[in-house]
Amino acid sequence: MRHVAIIGSGPAGYYTAEAAQKQWGDDVRVDIFDMLPVPYGLIRTGVAPDHQSIKGVSRRYETTAQLDNVRFVGNVMIGEDVTVAELQGLYDAVVLATGAPNDRPAGIPGEGLGNVFGSAAFVGWYNGHPQFAKLNPDLSGKHAVVIGNGNVALDVARILTKTAGEFTGSDIVGHALHALAKSHVEQVTILGRRGPHQIAMTPKELGELGHLERACPRVDPADLPEEGEDLFLEPGQRKSVTHLRSFAAIPEAFRADKPVEIAFDFFASPKAILGEGQVSGVEVERTALDSNGRASGTGETYVVPASLVITCIGYKSSPIPGVPFEESAGRFANAEGRILPGLYCVGWARRGPSGTIGTNRPDGFSVVERIAEDIGAGTGKHGRAGFDKLAEERKLDVVTFRDWKKIEEAEAARARDGAPREKFVDVAEMIRARGE
Ligand SMILES: Cc1cc2nc3c(=O)[nH]c(=O)nc-3n(C[C@H](O)[C@H](O)[C@H](O)COP(=O)(O)OP(=O)(O)OC[C@H]3O[C@@H](n4cnc5c(N)ncnc54)[C@H](O)[C@@H]3O)c2cc1C
Repeated sequence: MRHVAIIGSGPAGYYTAEAAQKQWGDDVRVDIFDMLPVPYGLIRTGVAPDHQSIKGVSRRYETTAQLDNVRFVGNVMIGEDVTVAELQGLYDAVVLATGAPNDRPAGIPGEGLGNVFGSAAFVGWYNGHPQFAKLNPDLSGKHAVVIGNGNVALDVARILTKTAGEFTGSDIVGHALHALAKSHVEQVTILGRRGPHQIAMTPKELGELGHLERACPRVDPADLPEEGEDLFLEPGQRKSVTHLRSFAAIPEAFRADKPVEIAFDFFASPKAILGEGQVSGVEVERTALDSNGRASGTGETYVVPASLVITCIGYKSSPIPGVPFEESAGRFANAEGRILPGLYCVGWARRGPSGTIGTNRPDGFSVVERIAEDIGAGTGKHGRAGFDKLAEERKLDVVTFRDWKKIEEAEAARARDGAPREKFVDVAEMIRARGE
């Protein structure tokens, strides 16, 4: 028998469990730990609440979760409740699938000012992550600045500008829906250091900005390269740039009906966040690209007014004491998923924050191949029986998958009309919803 502990119940954790099941069938026991009482990582707390079809991928993880030899062990924080070393003593393989939950700092002055947030915090707020439920962003000002040119920046800009009606069918949490309905934001500026050809935004997400009820995107035609140059882009990127071209061509008459603007400010490198106590603007330096597409400052600076700033410039994993960490890349130091004997990593904890949900699947399968090479038929450890004893000694309040199903039912039961669920945003509430 092989005993595998997976830390983290996001996509990478569940794909790894699926791979272990495929590899060993009944000859493996998998325990998937999560610090939250609820599973699925960023599928629940990252993916946008108005993108329910993407969140539907969790049904696949549920199939894995309900296998007899796979167990969800929620509400257990590895590194605090139990150490990695203790798990290594109990399981043949310990796989860190802890994601990359921390915002990368922009590294510019003023990041500590009021109403400046990283996207992990802001997205966590509207998606009901217990850590960020009380963020309470001030939406009483007119100008929001979103820093970054990836899909998370698009999510944030879209969520900031949708009407309450446009959230029908979403699972945006009540506190965010309520605050956004009263928002005064009428200008969202998306800052990108480079140009339209260098964006990391996908066509579907960009296209959505063209169909918002009261918001309209704006692109300065002067920022767009010659149209012929689009031919050298790969097809997905070309489609994205085509959306930008269509935004640049929107007639002023059409804009008159749209009180909110989402403006793309390309070749714009943020230098400082300005304000006293509270943010009031972002100082930006105009950039130019060299022949390799690298941006450098031109010396020309200007200020974009901002009452709210959200940085969407990437994430870092949380280091765990005793586990080698690559600080510059913000992930665990590993060779093809191997960290140390018996210790592995997968998903964003292995690669850093890149790729789509599906990218984590081959990662999970590949790490299980490495584990299979390393542990053979198992190393005679106690596995889950050993963990259960430890949990009892420490009086850990473990949340099982069956408990989660009760929490899920309770969330569905209290959903507002048309919404799939109203999430609990507090760990104690989740535990209460599980019942006795
Ligand atoms: C805002 C946002 C929107 C996104 N939207 C999309 C999208 O629309 N489509 C798409 O394809 N991809 C999207 N992604 C990317 C996708 O979410 C990731 O590829 C994927 O979630 C990474 O999976 P993971 O399992 O490595 O990490 P995560 O999903 O972050 O899961 C990590 C899990 O580990 C748990 N954990 C962390 N530390 C501990 C610990 N010490 N002890 C116990 N548990 C712990 C966490 O609670 C969490 O459940 C988005 C990402 C973000 C940030």
